[in-house]
Amino acid sequence: MSDIGELNLKKLLEHAHIGVVIHRWDTSIAYANPTALRLLRLTYEQIIGKDAFDSQWCFLDDAGKKLLIEDYPVNKVKHLQERVSNEIIGVIDSSRDDISWFMINAYYEGDAGQDNSFIVVTFNDISDSKQLFSFHDIVENIQDMVIVTEAKDIGYPTGPKIIYVNQAFEQQTGYKKNEILGETPRLLQGALTDQASKHRIHSALKRHQAVNETLLNYDASGRPYWVEMNIIPLKNKYGEVTHFAAIERDISEHKFHLEQLKKRNQDLKILKRDLERLVEERTLELQKAKTKLEKIAFYDPLTKVPNRRYFIDHTNRLIQVCKRKKLPIAFGLLDIDDFKLLNDNYGHDFGDKVLKALASFLNQFFRAGDAFCRYGGEEFAFALSIEKGSALNSLSSRLMTGIRALKIAFSSNKNLSITVSIGFKICNSAPDIDLETEIKKADIALYQSKKEGKNRVTIVK
Ligand code: GH3
Ligand code: MG
Ligand code: MG
Repeated sequence: MSDIGELNLKKLLEHAHIGVVIHRWDTSIAYANPTALRLLRLTYEQIIGKDAFDSQWCFLDDAGKKLLIEDYPVNKVKHLQERVSNEIIGVIDSSRDDISWFMINAYYEGDAGQDNSFIVVTFNDISDSKQLFSFHDIVENIQDMVIVTEAKDIGYPTGPKIIYVNQAFEQQTGYKKNEILGETPRLLQGALTDQASKHRIHSALKRHQAVNETLLNYDASGRPYWVEMNIIPLKNKYGEVTHFAAIERDISEHKFHLEQLKKRNQDLKILKRDLERLVEERTLELQKAKTKLEKIAFYDPLTKVPNRRYFIDHTNRLIQVCKRKKLPIAFGLLDIDDFKLLNDNYGHDFGDKVLKALASFLNQFFRAGDAFCRYGGEEFAFALSIEKGSALNSLSSRLMTGIRALKIAFSSNKNLSITVSIGFKICNSAPDIDLETEIKKADIALYQSKKEGKNRVTIVK
């Protein structure tokens, strides 16, 4: 064969990977190649002879709106006698109720309007790249946190690598995308993260299986929070697992209520069992159980704010964060003035009410990244990162003003106020900050506040 004119064009159409449909001028279909039949999911008999007015067609425009018959590519070519270039059209398959998206070109051959003229329509499937709406927008805007990692290196201490997090993740953890991408999700775990849960996740991922777990994670400021997570393997088009997506929600609040419920149930059980015993024995048992429960809980049952255990864990993380960011850190101890007198004069129940009111005020006052707790009795402890020493002065005076302004109702016409004494110890970001030592120094500062007449703050460097 020396001349391309001798090429068997029909054979070329039969083998082409692009759909080709040839219409007569009256739009009836004279020919459709195998690719066209496959893309349209029709047989040769179902298509040959059908024209543009046939009721089997249902076409959509690029925006998903039903196309008018006069706007079908074949009719546009016929009426405007112009070619149609790269038009995107959706074809609804009535038997399956789904849409295939095609990129369409059409032109005419021969003398327009004459019996010897044809309209040629060619098309290819672009469904994979055409979506009516953006899944990315959905994932970016949902309230659940979404983290995508690579599937490789899950056994390495630095793996697997995070390649995507959504906005909810940034907002809820305080980590910015540019800080966390390339890191491993292990960064979010810490001292109290349950080893058994971690192990279950690891072995599911190794087997490329989905897994659901509840785990303790830590945000950028070191605050621990409980997340319930669903991790799913993501496959490429060859069926290989290339990534994992974790969909996570913060359930700390829920977990806290569960913890309270569990504690109450456990208390009841112990109570029931101990009723059968002697009074001294019962008291001893209850005391033991209470101490044990307090050890495993994170929250103080009376005031519903973090307890000392949670505080120590949060503060140790905070110390690491401040060290990394080279920020000073302030340790504080607060003690209510003359609280024993208040109990004696107004009763222990009112004393409890005062503790709850103060705890609730402190809970509002501190930022999420600050660590604070009911340290014991009528004492509260805090640890805060500060920009510089002078920032602590203004924080202290806002704190004192806020506490002095608290009005706690004793009866319908009597409100009472309290005062507190505070000691602060400021540490510059030294490598060897020890929480216990610093709290002791804050306690000495607190003692000085008491000695100098109470209702004041003492800050030591
Ligand atoms: P100061 O100004 O020197 O701090 O005197 P204070 O009376 O506040 O201190 P002191 O340590 O003598 O008394 C603390 C009191 O706090 C004694 C204790 O009965 C009371 N207390 C501790 N825990 C609770 C509690 O959970 N509820 C109530 N109502 N009182 C408590
Ligand atoms: Mg005290
Ligand atoms: Mg006191």
